[in-house]
Amino acid sequence: MKKLLFHQYEYGSDNYGVLIHDPQSKATACVDVGDATKAISALEEKKWSLTDIWITHHHPDHTDGLKELKIKTGAFVYGPKIVSQHIEGLDIQLTQDDQFVFAKQIVKIIHTPGHTTDMINFYLPSQNILFSGDTLFALGCGRLFEGTPFMMWESLQKLMRLPEKTIVYCSHEYTLANAYFSLSIDPSNELLKDRVKSIESLRKANIPTIPTELKVELDTNPFLRAANAQIRENLNMRNNSDAEVFEKIRTLKDNF
Ligand SMILES: [Zn+2]
Repeated sequence: MKKLLFHQYEYGSDNYGVLIHDPQSKATACVDVGDATKAISALEEKKWSLTDIWITHHHPDHTDGLKELKIKTGAFVYGPKIVSQHIEGLDIQLTQDDQFVFAKQIVKIIHTPGHTTDMINFYLPSQNILFSGDTLFALGCGRLFEGTPFMMWESLQKLMRLPEKTIVYCSHEYTLANAYFSLSIDPSNELLKDRVKSIESLRKANIPTIPTELKVELDTNPFLRAANAQIRENLNMRNNSDAEVFEKIRTLKDNF
């Protein structure tokens, strides 16, 4: 299997962008481009030339650098089908079950509305890599700006069905705050307690907690654990639907 290279860089107050590079063809993609200057310095540092831009959703911290980068590099831009807000500069609009080829590898599109209605995630089965945008975070999920809780729960379930070994790149370093919230929902989860300790030491040393692994999220992220008996017990929601439990957890987080 051909191995692509991944380089994550920081921008804004807590955003991550990722460069994907194929050493053979020299193709390079950038996932989300909130800051053109930061993307260009990351490209220069790696000595890679941008050929593709992948946009997950319309929010400015994911799109603000698009115009400048497209003019400077001529990169081809993949992004979501217009649902909520037009994104200037897309060359192709993608939605659920669409796919395209990057460096001879299939990239599958998973439409995950909830945070926004246009949100798409990019999944590379050959690399076991998912770019989850602002849908799934380490120990969290995106706030519901445009979608309903039910919509977001359906979206998260699409991601939960991917192979457990999938490596997940999300767009924000929210993990430490998410960790303390997760403990409030699931305080007796030993795997979660261990994970919080390791997150604390990583963040103390200013080391990113991203990427994460789907298996780790399934074991510790309360937003993926609406079916868990202990969490249902903790929330006094033994007989509710998973979507209702998810909605409750999302509401509690919004007020945490
Ligand atoms: Zn967003």
